[in-house]
Amino acid sequence: SRGTRREYNIVVLGAGGVGKSCLTAQFVQNVWIESYDPTIEDSYRKVIEVDGRSCVLEILDTAGTEQFTAMREIYMKTGQGFLLVYSITSLSTLHELTDLRDQILRIKETDHVPIVIVGNKSDLEEDRAVSRNRAIHLSQSWGRVPFYETSARKRQNVDEVFMDLCRQIMRNEAVL
Ligand code: GDP
Ligand code: MG
Repeated sequence: SRGTRREYNIVVLGAGGVGKSCLTAQFVQNVWIESYDPTIEDSYRKVIEVDGRSCVLEILDTAGTEQFTAMREIYMKTGQGFLLVYSITSLSTLHELTDLRDQILRIKETDHVPIVIVGNKSDLEEDRAVSRNRAIHLSQSWGRVPFYETSARKRQNVDEVFMDLCRQIMRNEAVL
């Protein structure tokens, strides 16, 4: 009901090096740190206001090493919303999102899950390898999943992707 604090589990997924840890740190702590240990998987809490409601986000920044598929199943099951992150400088990282989404849908046994497609490193325009159209095409093929380009480095669109995901989860809850 109105006024209560909802808790939402968000999972940040994507290939290694796309900027999942940098995005999470910018969102949670408002800091830019150039380099994180790529093997560290950790979760963070942040309270945000969405449409006048206070939401507690529990954010898992994954490190996605293949040995831990059992772990992956667990967080895909408990996750209520997913940021699927690629880098605009690498087409293969966009391609990897399709497998991730398939896994999420299979494990959750549903055909609708709150997702945002995130094309990170938008500040590296000179190294762009993925056009916006390419990502928009993917988003449409998934039923118009919201898509944003972000820069963790410049802190562009960082709050927006988390807010969008939070709104989707709230809407999803209302339907269930
Ligand atoms: P993760 O493996 O997905 O967690 O990726 P990290 O967050 O550790 O970032 C991988 C590398 O990309 C690091 O060298 C970051 O400095 C760099 N990086 C992350 N986000 C951005 C961004 O928005 N712009 C630029 N230019 N570099 C970024
Ligand atoms: Mg990381």
